[in-house]
Amino acid sequence: MKLPFEIDLTGKVCVVTGAGGVLCSMFAEALAKTGAKVALLDLNVDAAKGYAEKINADGGIAKGYECNVLDKESIEKAHDEIVKDFGACDILINGAGGNNPKATTDNEYFTPEAMGNMKTFFDLDKSGVEFVFNLNFLGTLLPTQVFAKDMLEKEDASIINISSMNAYTPLTKIPAYSGAKAAISNFTKWLAVHFSKTNIRCNAIAPGFFVTKQNEKLLFNEDGTPTARTGKILGATPMDRFGKAEELIGTLLFLVHKDASSFVNGVVIPVDGGFSAYSGV
Ligand code: NAD
Repeated sequence: MKLPFEIDLTGKVCVVTGAGGVLCSMFAEALAKTGAKVALLDLNVDAAKGYAEKINADGGIAKGYECNVLDKESIEKAHDEIVKDFGACDILINGAGGNNPKATTDNEYFTPEAMGNMKTFFDLDKSGVEFVFNLNFLGTLLPTQVFAKDMLEKEDASIINISSMNAYTPLTKIPAYSGAKAAISNFTKWLAVHFSKTNIRCNAIAPGFFVTKQNEKLLFNEDGTPTARTGKILGATPMDRFGKAEELIGTLLFLVHKDASSFVNGVVIPVDGGFSAYSGV
């Protein structure tokens, strides 16, 4: 990976949750390239360790840790190991998050004929909705409680949350994910204000639409032609293309580096090719 610009975070300790996943493993790799020591946390410890090994093989400093962001004891255990291995946290990326099919309707628009034939709003499962809210919101709040205590001692510390386009205007079918990401944007502002008398800044990135291994099949048919959903997404993205995951890195590095963004606090930056700016007309 080539960074969009060079910054020096040598000696800084970065903690990345959800780092066994697509976007946050890439964030971890980028942070390691700046000289930071990177702790990759994930429920899927094998994935976190695998990405950490790749970073180390590439000359970086990284280690994978098992962590459930919904379990305070698990976060504290990871925290204690990280402090022993690398020292106290300077930068926290709250990346763990996601949706669940139990909290997703089959139809975009309700029609009475759908009742009994597909999963409508009325069939959404309470446990699925709770799962999505907890994973995205509590899964950001709890690691912040654990790691921000260390950050209070630092001259310069930064928290980055991961919001979504859903936070601005909800996408169809996924009310819980949309609400939970709106809560992340709101919480980012709340934290920025709450910690404003300390040296901790808190900001968020709201990614637009990126083709990753996970959503590739939803976006492209087997013959490579775009699906109907792709048509809708690109029709609502003025730049008329998907983002490349690497296009998030510049914003991440800008937000975590004091020299670049020391007075930037409580913002949610869309990286979306204009999606959130476009009314559709
Ligand atoms: P991903 O599914 O590849 O990664 C998420 C990671 O979180 C996985 O490795 C998973 O094991 C881990 N995880 C799940 N539950 C956990 C828990 N309880 N404790 C610890 N780890 C847990 O997803 P991604 O696409 O890389 O998304 C990363 C973040 O970006 C998420 O917050 C997601 O909501 C957000 N996001 C993604 C996109 C996108 O287009 N991919 C767009 C907007 C926002």
